[in-house]
Amino acid sequence: MIGPCLSRSPDLAWIYLLTLLAASLPYHFSSITLEFAEKTMGASMNEESSSFYTWQGRRLSKHVHDNVHGNIYLDPLSLKFIDTEQLRDLKQLGLAHLVYPGAVHSRFEHSLGVYWLAGAAVNTIKAYQGSELEIDHSDIQTVKLAGLLHDVGHGPFSHMFEREFLPRVLNGSHWSHEDMSVKMIDYIVDEHNIEIDSENLKRVKSTKEKQFLYDIVANGRNGIDVDKFDYITRDSRACGLGCNFQFERLMETMRVMGDEICYRAKDYLTIHKLFTTRADLHRTAYTHAKVKAIELMVVDALLEANNCLGISSSILQPEDFWKLDDSIMKSILTDPRQELKGARDLILRIRRRDIYQFCNEISVPKDKLEHFKDITPQDIVCSQKAGGALKEEDVVVTNVKIDLTRGRNNPLASIKFFKDYDCHEKFPIRDDCISQMLPAFYQDKIVRVYSKKPELVETVSDAFENFQLKMFGMKAQVHATPEKKKRRR
Ligand SMILES: [Zn+2]
Repeated sequence: MIGPCLSRSPDLAWIYLLTLLAASLPYHFSSITLEFAEKTMGASMNEESSSFYTWQGRRLSKHVHDNVHGNIYLDPLSLKFIDTEQLRDLKQLGLAHLVYPGAVHSRFEHSLGVYWLAGAAVNTIKAYQGSELEIDHSDIQTVKLAGLLHDVGHGPFSHMFEREFLPRVLNGSHWSHEDMSVKMIDYIVDEHNIEIDSENLKRVKSTKEKQFLYDIVANGRNGIDVDKFDYITRDSRACGLGCNFQFERLMETMRVMGDEICYRAKDYLTIHKLFTTRADLHRTAYTHAKVKAIELMVVDALLEANNCLGISSSILQPEDFWKLDDSIMKSILTDPRQELKGARDLILRIRRRDIYQFCNEISVPKDKLEHFKDITPQDIVCSQKAGGALKEEDVVVTNVKIDLTRGRNNPLASIKFFKDYDCHEKFPIRDDCISQMLPAFYQDKIVRVYSKKPELVETVSDAFENFQLKMFGMKAQVHATPEKKKRRR
């Protein structure tokens, strides 16, 4: 659990000691101690009723036990949002559980984790810089709610729905889960009659003043935020992958300088590990070749079912949108209508593990990355031997981009550091001042080619090899497509 560092925080040290004392004394002594704590801290019990760090706050809170962070205390206002049940029916990693069986955790669990870490981060900053930054009760509540609700606009199957399915049915119109999150928050407040100050509600959705508060949850400036702290830890654990990155150091030592969250120079390599662990997760789990194959099939199934089920028209209004969740696969499977036969067959194929066949992949050579245009099924079909009968609809291509959050740039270059707590200067650090073993390049583009039918693996693989020769003057693939796979009929 994230806790305040006692040596740097006399106020929190007091609360912590009094908590221990109270727990070890009979009830009436506890009450006296509580009263003393209130007076000592000068905390207004009404104002601070939602803070985990006050007795009143704890009394009015409920707690749940999270498998990553331990006990999470839920304040009364957040509970009103939590009880609307949003996000419980969306898996955090979409279809990854069909390859990593443990990856069945929900967006709800992740949102609780972000809520908790956002609260811990803002309270830690407040403990050291509260008066300097004028952090008040409403700031803390805003950051926690922003953490809780940051993913409320996500559709089913994680990012696949937004990046792969919607662009093919929206004919150029724009939709983003961030915009939907804002609409959903308003909808939840209205629908469930949640009493919240309208100014605070506005700040939960977006804020320009005290930008550092918003950066705690989603940091567009330097990419370090508690959203990543939670999902990197949670997703690694659920998939059974090791996680060498530990966010606790960063949480305990972050410092706001000129409205910007800065880190200690000595934590440079910890931050580097944050970005590389995230990239590893993308490579190993989120874009795993088989996870992608299954995603491609679900996209095809959703496209087939779209007219009949009106999926894309459900994304316009929050009152329809919340009904869209991962159960749509089961709905397609159990709907007997003839119009859904194509979609149903695809879902059945996934269940029988008769999935699109991975033929081969290449990592785009470094010197070709700058002007690289995504490869399409048409490119592959046009590269088949003369007289070949391969059709575009037999082939699927994915162009997967893996980077350290800043494309071909070094994300560490946009982070400001400080030397120690006595220094008031913030500065960037060149990576060669830290180590000569850090990457010289920051992006991979991986092209994967699949055959929709097992009997076409050999033809598609040959066409892909020809394409590589034409495009790069060499075969960029590392391995040949296995003979066993080519012979499968
Ligand atoms: Zn998130």
